[in-house]
Amino acid sequence: MRLILMGPPGAGKGTQGDRIAAAAGIPRLSTGDMLRAARRADTRLGREAQRYMDAGELVPDDVILGIVGEALDRPEASGGFLFDGFPRTVAQAEGLRDLLSEKGLSLDAVVSLDVPDEELVARISGRRVCETGHVTHTREVGESKVCPQCGGTLVHRSDDLPDTVSRRLGVYREQTEPVLEYYAAGDIGLTVVDGLGHRDEVARRLDAAIAKTRAEAVG
Ligand code: AMP
Repeated sequence: MRLILMGPPGAGKGTQGDRIAAAAGIPRLSTGDMLRAARRADTRLGREAQRYMDAGELVPDDVILGIVGEALDRPEASGGFLFDGFPRTVAQAEGLRDLLSEKGLSLDAVVSLDVPDEELVARISGRRVCETGHVTHTREVGESKVCPQCGGTLVHRSDDLPDTVSRRLGVYREQTEPVLEYYAAGDIGLTVVDGLGHRDEVARRLDAAIAKTRAEAVG
């Protein structure tokens, strides 16, 4: 299965994407996670990306398409993949189209999680992450600094602080919403799923939407 999971920051792409990818036996390719790993490793890419990420701005398209091209070439991605947080601009969507067509591949589905801004801000302000990338929420752990999944240290991501969050939401509306229109107008189409409610309920909606899209593609 080759899938793109779209949606603004805080929509639940990471949580739902992890679950869908694990169930399908495919990797979740999160460009945000790749950039954060590069920052932790203090590579040239990590240092270059840092200033954009801290400001809530997008990392340049050529940098992103470079790391995506490498990820697609890894053996784990040969049986399919789920993109989370990519593509974020129309130029990235066009770059992905070219990368896939060089490999004779196409996408099975593009699904967007729809969540209103007020809810996104509430979710992101309580979001906590640990150094290995587990994500939790103050609704679950309160002010504890201990990751419930691995015992690592929980922090509030610097780009999850209020000023950067509003910038990231603005960037999403300006630069990433046109990507939804790009896919909606194309052959695969765009499936929009309501991302409000309990994560199990959202999971059911997503699974049903993906199954329907794939059945239509086959039929
Ligand atoms: P995320 O964890 O997906 O919200 O990404 C965190 C930050 O990484 C974003 O605010 C951007 O600065 C950067 N980033 C992640 N993915 C992309 C992308 N596809 N294009 C440009 N910048 C990205």
